[in-house]
Amino acid sequence: MNTISETDAAPQAPIRTPKGWKRVGWQGVTANTPDAWNLAAYGGDARVGNIRIDNGETAGNAVMGVEIRWSRPKKALSAADLEKRLDQYLTSVDKGAKKQKLSADTKSKPLEDRRFPVRTARSFHWRVDRKGVGRIWHCAECGRLMIAQVVGAAKGDFQHLAHDVLASLECHSADPAWRPWSLYDLHTEVPADFTLKGKPQLLNIYVQLAFERAGTTDLVTVEQWGVASVQLRNAYLDEWFQEKNSAQESSLRYQSEETTIHGHTALAMTGRRWGLTYWGAQAIPQLTRLQLPAIHYAARIWECPETNKIFLIQSYTRRLDPTLVDRIVERTVCHPVPEEAS
Ligand SMILES: [Zn+2]
Ligand SMILES: [Zn+2]
Repeated sequence: MNTISETDAAPQAPIRTPKGWKRVGWQGVTANTPDAWNLAAYGGDARVGNIRIDNGETAGNAVMGVEIRWSRPKKALSAADLEKRLDQYLTSVDKGAKKQKLSADTKSKPLEDRRFPVRTARSFHWRVDRKGVGRIWHCAECGRLMIAQVVGAAKGDFQHLAHDVLASLECHSADPAWRPWSLYDLHTEVPADFTLKGKPQLLNIYVQLAFERAGTTDLVTVEQWGVASVQLRNAYLDEWFQEKNSAQESSLRYQSEETTIHGHTALAMTGRRWGLTYWGAQAIPQLTRLQLPAIHYAARIWECPETNKIFLIQSYTRRLDPTLVDRIVERTVCHPVPEEAS
């Protein structure tokens, strides 16, 4: 099994994006997009999946965003394979246009980007009643076939913006042991052997992502609340935590102590799952399936006054893993770090 050792490389430098832009990350795919764009749709998993990040406009042509799809072909794709795949896509655009009695203008050519050796990537362009500017590539490192396009109004002049979005796209993270997740101002990373569990909650005021380590009961949750001052209403962090966590308070035994996270006052909780609730509902069925129950519990909670947000990261593991939650905390950026004076 792929376990993360304590000798991991240091966390990556905080994400820096141009002013007015932000980093979005999903299933290991990351891209810079304008601030106003948000995750609008997603599907699949790290192997085969897709996301759409857009400006949320619903008035006809004003919708603009980027669509990204990925899959993992069984074998490496040649330049000819890529061209063929892209031709199939552009043919479908053409057919769609004809159905609407419109004509399509499509183009594609090998992409010259210094990140890709020429001939393993292609750029393309299509125009019907909307316009798409995209690229397709097969990555030798992560094995993903990626197709990404920025789509907007046919008359829109967004060539420059599309280029900036597409050029910022990364199909895998620099550190293969960690996978970045960035959305709604939440920027975190979890070990790559943890996969998204269940349906995430994605709201401006509340984001919750849950991850499980494949084939085990190990679980990590990352939560972010907006408008911290309203949420806290003079309650101390520990009271607030107990209230938010009330559903499982009775099945947890933990000690909490004050600590500092990213310069803010924080609480660190360490303990175990306990009691009939947990044993009855989950642990016994897990034991009968010969899975070790995840009884070791750790949590970190902090308030970031700079961004007016509260962060809660919790881990449940089969084996004592006291640094897991802290390593995720290190990689969870709550406020922009000022540029170091040189
Ligand atoms: Zn890649
Ligand atoms: Zn902060």
